[in-house]
Amino acid sequence: MNNNSYNPYLNAQAQFDRVAEMIGLDEATRELLRQPMKEYHFTIPVRMDDGSNKIFNGYRIQHNDARGPAKGGIRFHPQETVDTVRALSMWMTWKCAVVDIPLGGAKGGIVCDPRNLSDGEQERLCRGWVRKLAKDMGPFIDVPAPDVMTNAKHMLWMLDEFEAIHGGRFPGFITGKPVGMGGSLGRTEATGYGLIYTVREALREQGIKIENTSASIQGFGNVAQYAAQLYQELGGHVVSVCCWDNEDKTVYSFHKAEGLDGKILSEMTDAFGSIDKDKARDLGCNMQAGDAWIEQDVDILMPCAIENQITMRNVGKISKQVKIIAEGANGPVNTEADEIIRNSGIFVIPDFLANAGGVTCSYFEQVQSNNNYYWEKEDVLQKLDAKMTSAFKAVSELSGKNNIYMRDAAYVISINRVAQAVKMRGWV
Ligand code: GLU
Repeated sequence: MNNNSYNPYLNAQAQFDRVAEMIGLDEATRELLRQPMKEYHFTIPVRMDDGSNKIFNGYRIQHNDARGPAKGGIRFHPQETVDTVRALSMWMTWKCAVVDIPLGGAKGGIVCDPRNLSDGEQERLCRGWVRKLAKDMGPFIDVPAPDVMTNAKHMLWMLDEFEAIHGGRFPGFITGKPVGMGGSLGRTEATGYGLIYTVREALREQGIKIENTSASIQGFGNVAQYAAQLYQELGGHVVSVCCWDNEDKTVYSFHKAEGLDGKILSEMTDAFGSIDKDKARDLGCNMQAGDAWIEQDVDILMPCAIENQITMRNVGKISKQVKIIAEGANGPVNTEADEIIRNSGIFVIPDFLANAGGVTCSYFEQVQSNNNYYWEKEDVLQKLDAKMTSAFKAVSELSGKNNIYMRDAAYVISINRVAQAVKMRGWV
């Protein structure tokens, strides 16, 4: 999911190397943690609706499971690459470690465009992916979840295939399931809400009232929609969102100076995060082709789409007014642009901390599924808030105390935790 020469795996390794050097990590641990421990690359033959057969490429990459079963989503994307999945699997390890949940990191992917596949084709694709991995995954081995362009419906097909193969009911095999079918209340909202819990804490530390702030969001999928809703509920003003338009095959920015209503906007958005342009126009939005979301005079930028979105091409367009960048997406800033942001004084809530709400709630879902006992929504959200808030505070405190960049501080905490786990297990 990258363009031109950008390689997210090299970005993830550069981030890791920088902090490994900073904390004086020994060679063997460095070697072990800067690459995935196990990779599965395979083909998935699918019978298409028109009777033809199509072969898709699938991946599962387990970066590290020293702290617990590997955990991470599976995404569907036409530009998925093995290096994207590798990078994302690494970020999952740091993500689970920073919020201190007993899980490792993994990621999966299928190179496909679900926007052009029928439900039946998607179901066969999901089942095919599980068939290739059923012996190498499981509630105590590696647990998948939704990600870009996958949702609860896909998770249930995958679970059903896994259970058919293993003969039994194993709801802890996968998270992000539909509520009532082993899913957790609050899981759909969790990543977006988690992001806003960290934004709320950052504003509190800076002595800024959320009611006096405005934000611009890139993306309008699951993360962005719930982030917009909670931010607005807490008093913030979303003045701009930007999303992919599959009809025109381009991105559009939607603006409204007095603030967009996240809930209403969500109601006019399809399953892939594309906002209906006609309805948005009726709502009084200004629309503009292109990624103007980044040049808005706002206090907070929230990139919530995919990796490699803030680069040397547009980093200079960030307004002087921006105080916080909260990374809802995984890896939205490339290495070079990150260097500029690091020196700009903007407070960054780094991706694997900012968007850890999803996997944190997945962990709660696993606990509920494995015990077959389900919690109230308030309990889930309260526990989520507590986890996100304490993780944010720990990172921010370390960043302040050692005068280091927020991203580096988050890495210091995560790498130390994972390094300790691999050492205790006697791996290095
Ligand atoms: N795909 C989400 C992420 O990138 C959630 C992963 C999970 O719940 O396991 O964090």
